[in-house]
Amino acid sequence: MRGRAGKFRLTQKFKYLTSMRVALFALILFTAGSTLFGVSVGALAICREQVVLERISEVGEYGKILTNQMASSGYLAAQGLEITTELTAAADIFDGRILVVDKNLRVVADTFNYEVGKILLSQKVIECIRGINTYRVEERDDYIQMTLPVRGGETAENAYAGAIILRASLERETTFLDRVEHTVLIIDLVVLFVVALVAFFCSGRMTKPFKSIVASIQHVTDGYLEDPVSIGGFYEVRRISDSFNEMLLQMKKVEESRQEFVANVSHELKTPMTSIKVLADSLTLQEDAPVELYREFLTDITDEIERENQIINDLLSLVRLDRKDAEMHIAQVSINELMEIILKRIKPIAKRKNIELMFESFRPVLAEVDEVKLSLAVSNLIENAVKYNVEDGTVRVSVNADHKYFYISVSDSGIGIPEAAQPFIFDRFYRVDKARSRESGGTGLGLAITKSVVLRHKGTIKVNSRENEGTTFTVRIPLNFIA
Ligand code: ADP
Repeated sequence: MRGRAGKFRLTQKFKYLTSMRVALFALILFTAGSTLFGVSVGALAICREQVVLERISEVGEYGKILTNQMASSGYLAAQGLEITTELTAAADIFDGRILVVDKNLRVVADTFNYEVGKILLSQKVIECIRGINTYRVEERDDYIQMTLPVRGGETAENAYAGAIILRASLERETTFLDRVEHTVLIIDLVVLFVVALVAFFCSGRMTKPFKSIVASIQHVTDGYLEDPVSIGGFYEVRRISDSFNEMLLQMKKVEESRQEFVANVSHELKTPMTSIKVLADSLTLQEDAPVELYREFLTDITDEIERENQIINDLLSLVRLDRKDAEMHIAQVSINELMEIILKRIKPIAKRKNIELMFESFRPVLAEVDEVKLSLAVSNLIENAVKYNVEDGTVRVSVNADHKYFYISVSDSGIGIPEAAQPFIFDRFYRVDKARSRESGGTGLGLAITKSVVLRHKGTIKVNSRENEGTTFTVRIPLNFIA
């Protein structure tokens, strides 16, 4: 109990974390957010690639024009001033720097004028001059660097006269991309905010029926069993409310039958009490009543007490059988021997009405049963066969079995049960003829007890009866007890 209470407290504490509404809200937001993030990152990457590619092609085109001009004017051999102006202009356009390297890796021109005369020992430049890799682009954070060869003479040895290293700034592109990124971020945030609003309302709307169900169930718990839950909307929610209503109906039936049972019990217990009171009153009112009258009335009072006792005993048996945890004392029992014992006990009662008791045993039957309970059940059937029989009638009891079940059948040549009454004979306190049952000491609980015992053995009981011809009860019980 403590564990459950602790768990409940914990759930209460974190109730928002376990709430379906919060889960739905988070799910919608997460799905939308991650999709938005993925799309934005992908789109920005494509955009950046495209912008840089355009810049590379722009710079490349310009670079090619420069190298062609250098090659045709023999710049590297002569180092004319004109081309240096062009170089400076080009470097300005690209907001970068241009270096010119001759065949011997010596820097012959630098728009920044830092490196002129120095030897540039760069792998890229060497590869470029040797014609191994004539076009290289390096992309750094904020600039691109391109190495382009300058063609030289006709022969293979002097095919390249040198190379130019073109460095162009990406500042303009980066600024543009930053602006795009900024705009995308703002759009993302706005969309996410709208999605959060929609998710908030949607999750609220989707979980609203559950709130209504809880309220309705609470209403029923408060005692309003008459008001069924009626909630529309989603199919699943309607299923829950339908199932709940079915359960409510069952509860109502159980409650009704409980009330009916209590009313019946009170009535049945009251009847002998009323008789006792009437008998006792008439004795006290009659001042000099003769001793014989006293004796007669007291005998009647004893009979009524005996009857009250019988009802209480039967009720106790039923209550004990009804308890699901009631123990079953299962043992291997010879059903044939059990029948013989029961029949021997009932024989004197049958004799009073000159009723013939016959026993037919088709085969010896050993079965796993609760001997005391089964004996009570079968006794009720045979006693009824005698009680509701005619003078000089017969009662035939038989025992048979197959590989799975054993069968006990009790047939009588008695008054029979009207067809309309047959569905009710196993109900508590039901009697076809109240007066006759009472006369023969019946409590109306015998068949209810029998049925209960049979059910506890996972068996079945059937009745076959015709009015004024007789009745047959057939009991079928598994040979091996099923727990
Ligand atoms: P009771 O204590 O009245 O016998 P039971 O529960 O044993 O109660 O039986 C219920 C009713 O079923 C009886 O009152 C009787 O009307 C009817 N009944 C039971 N067994 C027979 C039978 N063998 N023949 C005719 N009627 C029977």
